Amino acid sequence: VSHSQTSFFAGIDLGGTNVATAIGDANGNIVAHERQLTGAPDGHAAVIGRIASSVERLASRAGIRLDAVGMGVPGLVDIAAGETRFLPNLSGNWKDVPLASCLSERLGCPVHLLNDARAAALGEAIFGLGRGVRTMLIYTLGTGVGGGIVIDGRLHMGPLGTAGEIGHVCVQADGPWCSCGSRGCLETFVSGPALAGEGVRLMLSGNAPALKRLCGGDMNRVSPEILGEAAREGDVGVQAAIERAGSLLGLAASGQVLALHPDLIILSGGVAGLTGMLTPPMRRAIQERVRMFPVDRIRVERSSLGEMAGVLGAIAVARQGGAMPAERVHP
Ligand SMILES: [Zn+2]
Repeated sequence: VSHSQTSFFAGIDLGGTNVATAIGDANGNIVAHERQLTGAPDGHAAVIGRIASSVERLASRAGIRLDAVGMGVPGLVDIAAGETRFLPNLSGNWKDVPLASCLSERLGCPVHLLNDARAAALGEAIFGLGRGVRTMLIYTLGTGVGGGIVIDGRLHMGPLGTAGEIGHVCVQADGPWCSCGSRGCLETFVSGPALAGEGVRLMLSGNAPALKRLCGGDMNRVSPEILGEAAREGDVGVQAAIERAGSLLGLAASGQVLALHPDLIILSGGVAGLTGMLTPPMRRAIQERVRMFPVDRIRVERSSLGEMAGVLGAIAVARQGGAMPAERVHP
């Protein structure tokens, strides 16, 4: 098979635990992908080496040459310089690492960086449910709560590529401390660990018999998935916990809805498995708080891309030759 007429791009989704690599064409058709441990404690040089080997391996397996590489990175990156600035969830020293040029030298093509949540949002916008949608919000509900905002068909970046952190909107002024340093953020109530922690508390206080049975009394097995099962089997406390998470999602989203009036809100990440249970209280909360215009046509849906959103967004960044729009309104 000759691929000589087609352009191919690699997308990398660097996470604290795993790094996913994929190769696809400009339409987001994935021809090869793999996932491996990040191994961050080995240091950034080792991680970069592993990522480069992975890309080379996939490209040679697919028998293609790469036009460009895009990469989602967990934290603050300098998009223009192609350097990492602050990656709190990766061990090792990642301050001012010239990640893009290191990879570019080894792979022989341009490499473009972007924050990982923004990459996932871009993936959803270009290849997922967001196709053709003008304005939308994306919540990535995982270990943390990331997000992204698309306005008039463009991923909103802000001056540093950091805009769209809608998981860190405050929903309770004196709430729990958050990974970002603030307190009472949406993340502290609706992340996977936050929900699992509430499940454990319910189990230990004797308020979640079904949950206790489903995970054999083992606290470490409490996950969003098992919480959903326990709720379906009638654990009232677990149902209330999921309901509360949905309400708080709606409370946080209502501010964005008032500002942006999105057509669509996408939920992704591990907790999005609970979308069916989160959506009714979320919609109620939005309806209660947004009184200036009708909100019944705003759709709330679970991501169709799942864990591929990150690499697809990275491929989109590679395809468009970087994350920031080339033109600027103000020079
Ligand atoms: Zn926060």
